[in-house]
Amino acid sequence: MVEHMKWWGWGQEGVAFHHEDKPNLAPFVKRVSGIDFHAAPAQVPQLSELTVPPSQAPDALRKAFVEAVGQEHVHDDDLDRVVHAYGKSMRDLVRIRRGDFGRLPDLVVYPGTEAETEAALRVALESDAVLIPFGGGSNIVGSLEAPRDETRPVVSLDMGRMRLLLSLDETSQTARIQAGALGPDLEEQLNARGWTIGHFPDSFKHSTLGGWIATRSSGMQSDRFGDIADITRAVRVVTPHGIVATAEVPVQSAGPSVREMVLGSEGRLGIITEATVQVHRQAEQREIQAYFFPDYASGLKAMHDIAASDASPSITRVSDANETQFTLATSKKGSTLGQLLNKGVQLYASKRKGIDLSEMCLSFIGFEGSALHVRRNKSLVGEIVKKHGGFGVGAGPGKLYDQKKFDTPYIRDFILDRGAYGDVSETSSSWATLKSVHDNVVAAAGKAFAEVGVKGFVFCHLSHSYHSGACQYFTFAFQPPTDRDGLEAYDVVKGAIQQAFIDNGGTLSHHHAVGREHKRWIEDDLSAAGAKIVGSLFAGVDPGRNLNPGAVV
Ligand code: FAD
Repeated sequence: MVEHMKWWGWGQEGVAFHHEDKPNLAPFVKRVSGIDFHAAPAQVPQLSELTVPPSQAPDALRKAFVEAVGQEHVHDDDLDRVVHAYGKSMRDLVRIRRGDFGRLPDLVVYPGTEAETEAALRVALESDAVLIPFGGGSNIVGSLEAPRDETRPVVSLDMGRMRLLLSLDETSQTARIQAGALGPDLEEQLNARGWTIGHFPDSFKHSTLGGWIATRSSGMQSDRFGDIADITRAVRVVTPHGIVATAEVPVQSAGPSVREMVLGSEGRLGIITEATVQVHRQAEQREIQAYFFPDYASGLKAMHDIAASDASPSITRVSDANETQFTLATSKKGSTLGQLLNKGVQLYASKRKGIDLSEMCLSFIGFEGSALHVRRNKSLVGEIVKKHGGFGVGAGPGKLYDQKKFDTPYIRDFILDRGAYGDVSETSSSWATLKSVHDNVVAAAGKAFAEVGVKGFVFCHLSHSYHSGACQYFTFAFQPPTDRDGLEAYDVVKGAIQQAFIDNGGTLSHHHAVGREHKRWIEDDLSAAGAKIVGSLFAGVDPGRNLNPGAVV
């Protein structure tokens, strides 16, 4: 039995965001964005109240899939088809609650082995059906939906039965893992033997290894363990030309990298059935320290210096002033985060350090490894923080942040229940451009809010540092005007933020991928000729456009 997220929202049924224990949050959000946490929530409709278009799968096709994977693994009930319609962007959540299902899959097929995956692909190709691989369904770039005008049968291929750790090579420090394994599946199996993959995206609980690879995902501890592109050493992919199996080697000089072509392919080249990934022994010690900087510019400079130093932290993160205010407003009464705001810290920051409290920026830096490594790295980072006018406030807030990080996504459903919109956009750029990207994106969002006539709020943090630059992750929220469709307003704001990335030297996405949402910027990112090469690759592998047509290019 494969469990899925709520059809209408994020995460597990019965789990939701609450603010009653965070007394400062509702007034803060109301003040900065106009969103009223106390507004009466709209009732999410029952699926039975919505009109779900019937499956158009011909009997012969259904029969062929039943032969490929078994009767109980071919589904066409409304709930299963709706769960597989979209990912989990704000656009997806709005559309699904409106009963705007797009071109729903006609069948949902669950292969249990690589051989069944091959058989399923064969059926799709022979009957000219569209096949869309499905991992956890957590993407936020529209990478799972069939074109609205697709007249061929559409099949969602859910990899959720394939979730095993197949083997662990303790000598090479690699593990072979099936692509349908969700974060907790693979981490539990690795932890049981003392190992970890070290890949923890915020969507960890509801996304899969195959999905991470197909979208070039990045996890919170990427500074130490790398992005999924670094972690993935080899892949097995069922394609129309047979099984692609890349060599299980650390590095290869054998022409353009096929492994790299599969990374970010969003199901357009085939179905990833398993991958060999780098794994690490679980760390002896792990902690996240919190620091404050006088402002975002000094925080960015400190992150830059850390990246250029001998220090190797697992997490480097600094919030801008708006995000810092938001984070502090989420603190529970009497909690460690709340204590950050205590008089002593405020007095120390303003009187002793001369910091303007409204500009102050919160930073989390993670350390992981042997006790000696952690001690030495904390000391190196401490010196850099000090050089940039920052100061440390201990490990308590970091512990809380670590415990709560997977709960944050539930807030989008909470505000949507109250008619408000919120989402995220992220980009990477060089150290030289980070600050101007930030400032111009914030300005572009402000202009877009004004254009649609809303107050709106945007904030950002830097995460994932590299030798030459870093990722910046923007969150925006607003209460749509009453005289305009909320999704239209969303498009204006989201589009302005994305365009500002491109105009200021950023990429269309650091780790959320392209899907259909970001496709219009692909030529800006890759150049027209580069996008053509990617299109030619897809066309060469899948001339019939049977594999997730329309994603990426
Ligand atoms: P899906 O959404 O099911 O699919 C995504 C794409 O991959 C589709 O094109 C699909 O066809 C393809 N695909 C899936 N499995 C396979 C396979 N086996 N073979 C071939 N193609 C396949 N992303 C991050 O990187 N870091 C984050 O911190 C992060 N946080 C998020 C937080 C929230 C609240 C949300 C909603 C999303 C977040 N994401 C994040 C985005 C998302 O979780 C990632 O894109 C994730 O990698 C998608 O994995 P999935 O298994 O859910 O894939």
